[in-house]
Amino acid sequence: RRKMQSNSNNIGFQSSPGLDKSLSATGAPLKGHPVQVVITTVDHQFELDEDALAQILLQPNVRDKKISIVSVAGSFRKGKSFLLDFFLRFLNADGLPDWLGDEEAPLEGFSWRGGSDRDTTGILIWSEPFFLKTRSGEEVVVLLMDTQGAFDSESTVKDCATIFALSTMLSSVQVFNLTQNIQEDDLQHLQLFTEYGRLALEDNDNVSKPFQALQFLIRDWSFPYEAPYGAAGGRKILEKRLMISDKQHPELQQIRKHISSCFDKISCFLLPHPGLRVATNPHFDGRLKDIEKDFLEQLQVLTPMLLAKENIVLKEINGQKVRCEEMMEYFKAYIKIYQGEELPEPKSMLQATAEANNLAAVASSKALYNKKMEEICGGDKPYLHPDALQVEHNRCVEVCVDLFHSTRKMGGPEFCQMYEDQLKEDLTEAFASFSRHNESKNLFSAARTPAVLFTVVVI
Ligand code: GDP
Ligand code: MG
Repeated sequence: RRKMQSNSNNIGFQSSPGLDKSLSATGAPLKGHPVQVVITTVDHQFELDEDALAQILLQPNVRDKKISIVSVAGSFRKGKSFLLDFFLRFLNADGLPDWLGDEEAPLEGFSWRGGSDRDTTGILIWSEPFFLKTRSGEEVVVLLMDTQGAFDSESTVKDCATIFALSTMLSSVQVFNLTQNIQEDDLQHLQLFTEYGRLALEDNDNVSKPFQALQFLIRDWSFPYEAPYGAAGGRKILEKRLMISDKQHPELQQIRKHISSCFDKISCFLLPHPGLRVATNPHFDGRLKDIEKDFLEQLQVLTPMLLAKENIVLKEINGQKVRCEEMMEYFKAYIKIYQGEELPEPKSMLQATAEANNLAAVASSKALYNKKMEEICGGDKPYLHPDALQVEHNRCVEVCVDLFHSTRKMGGPEFCQMYEDQLKEDLTEAFASFSRHNESKNLFSAARTPAVLFTVVVI
C-alpha cells in the first residue's frame, strides 16, 4: 500500500543491495539507509510509518537519550540530499579532522542527483542514529532528516507547507536551503510555512518561540566581494534581508517580524558554487576531486558548525529537552494535526489574492445593489407594486453584475464565474428581503394578517 522510496538513481540501498558494500569516506562501509517516515499518499494525505520510526527511535540504546534532529528543507533539486551525505560522512568519521575522506570515493547516503523525476514526497530519516558526547559527558542521539517534494509540480501548496511545517516542528535545526540569494518570495514561503506550523502548535504556552534554530543556507553564492563566504558573510546578508525599518512597506515589515518571532535563533551561511562538474556532468558521482576547493573548504566550516558535539542543538519542546521515546509521541501527535480537518487549507499567493479580489468585487457590487434598492423601496419609500419592484430589481442586478465584470480581478474566467454565481444568489436573497419589506407597507395585504384582523374586529 505504501510507496517505497525509489533509489534507482542512487548507488546503494534497497533497490540494489548487491552494491551495499561500497566504502564510506573513512574506509568503513557506510551503515544505514534512508527511511521514509512521513509518506504523502496520492490523494495528498499524510501518513506516519510508525513501525519504521519506532525501529529508529525505540532501540534500547537510543530510546532514553536526548535527541538532536538536523533537517534540510527547501526547493527540489537544489543539493539538499547531496549536502546531507556530507553530513553523514562527518558524523561517521566521529569528528576526525580528515572526515571529508578519500578523493576518489563516490558520495552516498540519501539519494541525490538523478533525472528529472523526483522521489516520493515526504520526510526521510537516516536509519542509523549517531551518538555524541556533549560537554557534560552525556551521550545524545543525532538524527539527519531529508525532506522531499517542496515546490515541485506534483505537490500542492498544502503538501509543501505540511512537509516544511512538520520538519520544522520536529527538528532542532532547520536548514532552509536556497540558491543564489534570499529572495522576497523565499521569505513569503517561509512565512506561510512557519505560520502553518505555528497554527498547529497553537495551544502552546506562547512564551517560548515555537521553533528552535533556523539556518539559511545559500548555495552558489556569487558575490564574495560583497559578503564573504561562510557565516560572517551570511550574517551580513541576513541583516540586510531581515532588517525591519519604518521605511519598508508594512507587509514587508510584517513578514520579517513574523519570521523572527518564530525561531529562537536565526543564522545564515554562504556556500560557493561547487563547480560545473557537480552542477552539470551527468556522470559526476560525488567524488571530492570533481568538486571545487572553495566549496569543500566552506563545507568544512559549515558541517562542524551544525554537527560537532560542542555545537549540537538538542531538541526542546516548550523549553524541555526531549528524549527519543518522547519524540516518537510528538511525531504521532503532530502528524495527526495535519491529518485532521481543523487546520485551514494553506493557499498559494495567487489563489489567496484572486480569492480576495473576487470577494472584494462581490462586496462592492452587493453594496451598490443595496444602495440602489434603498433608493427605490427603502424604509420611507412608498409601497410599490410587486411587478414594478421586480423590474427595478432586474435593472439593478444588471448594473451590479456589470460592475462585477468591469472590476479587475485575478484568477481567470472560470474562477470568477463562481463568485459571479454567488453574487447573483446573494442579490436574489437581498431582493426577497426588500420584497418582504415592501409588502409590509401594503395596507391591503397587511389587513389580511391575523393580528390586524383582530384589531379590526375589536373596533
Ligand atoms: P535535492 O532535490 O535538493 O535533494 O537535490 P540533490 O541533492 O538531489 O542535488 C541535485 C543536483 O544538484 C545534483 O546534480 C547535484 O550534483 C547538484 N548540486 C549539489 N549541490 C549543489 C550546489 O551547491 N550547487 C549547484 N549548482 N548544484 C549542486
Ligand atoms: Mg533530495
